Amino acid sequence: MGSDLRICIVGAGFSGAVIARELADKGYRTLVIDERSHSAGNCHTERDAETGVMVHKYGPHIFHTADEKVWAYINRFGEMMPYVNRVKATVKGKVYSLPINLHTINQFFGKAMSPDEAKAFIVSQARSDIEEPQSFEEQGMKFVGEDLYKAFFDGYTRKQWGVEPSTLPASILKRLPLRFNYDDNYFNHPYQGMPKDGYSKIVDGILAHDNIEVRLDCSYESLEEDFDHVFYTGPLDRYFGYDIGRLSYRTLDFEPIRAEGDFQGTAVMNYPDPEVPFTRISEHKHFAPWEAETFEKTIAFKEFSRNCGENDIPYYPIRRLDDKQLLEAYEERAANEDGVTFVGRLGTYQYLDMDVTIGRALTVAEEFLASRKA
Ligand code: FAD
Repeated sequence: MGSDLRICIVGAGFSGAVIARELADKGYRTLVIDERSHSAGNCHTERDAETGVMVHKYGPHIFHTADEKVWAYINRFGEMMPYVNRVKATVKGKVYSLPINLHTINQFFGKAMSPDEAKAFIVSQARSDIEEPQSFEEQGMKFVGEDLYKAFFDGYTRKQWGVEPSTLPASILKRLPLRFNYDDNYFNHPYQGMPKDGYSKIVDGILAHDNIEVRLDCSYESLEEDFDHVFYTGPLDRYFGYDIGRLSYRTLDFEPIRAEGDFQGTAVMNYPDPEVPFTRISEHKHFAPWEAETFEKTIAFKEFSRNCGENDIPYYPIRRLDDKQLLEAYEERAANEDGVTFVGRLGTYQYLDMDVTIGRALTVAEEFLASRKA
């Protein structure tokens, strides 16, 4: 047992909490710090004082996975309620079903096509002159044709990433589903759900162990203790003092809307039109359908995306070509940094869903424990 090792885990999000717990269960004591005044990182949830609604403070989070081990792990620390993510989009004053499915196609073109008819119709719409799509824009036009592409992808992408879709790689759109049936479940994963008491309760449950000390409102930079090992889930470039430059991120601003009753009748409404400044509105009581009816008031958030400044919260890694070069340089230094493991969405500069985050944290902990035995 390695209980005499001094181990610090920077960040009390899913990455840090899962590593701390795995080590704690094997007898290792850890200090988990976070500069925020709460745990759970960007997955933090709290009840809104005025409405009582459980709010996802850093944007809506839906848990979905195909990984049975991860699904069992999350269920060990909290009750997961059934939740299916169904997203709508308002385009030029009309509401459509997403992801693009047979309903969307029939609504958009004012038809009542069967699956085969719709397939043939989309083939006739698609831009067959584009053989090897080089960009997101070309891929979109080849994939669904110009009308659907412009309505659902073009404006949304410009707002979300702040760049011309012609400069983004085609690979981004290859991952988006197009369905010729009426299935509007946003995700394809077999397990999907929402924690009954919020994500923060789950993370606090993971951290609740005699071998784990949690220190909030505490930045890594302010620590004066020495450690034998550090698991660092903060921004990779920040660890090195940004000395060779900053990796670029998009950040989000949330503008609250308070109303009586029900504001939009659904959890997420996308606004792809380029003239609308925000990307979507999420109404948080609809993420908890088992209790949504009990609230007399509601709270929703308009979501705006912009480039991340020095004092903003980093949300989505942009990963442009120059970011990739900078990332490689930081990664090389990280690999040579003795006694530090870089992990999580910020520590590896990657967009990671929660299930992937938990899966990777489990692996990192397992590898660390195995290295101690060797
Ligand atoms: P984080 O949650 O960011 O935790 C890192 C923590 O480290 C933070 O609390 C931070 O304060 C702390 N920290 C950083 N630097 C320091 C320092 N120097 N000193 C002290 N503390 C520090 N995933 C899904 O599966 N489903 C979704 O629907 C979903 N929606 C998302 C929506 C948005 C808008 C975004 C941006 C992400 C979404 N995700 C979703 C992904 C999810 O947020 C991540 O998987 C998860 O937050 C990663 O956890 P983490 O612990 O790696 O990082």
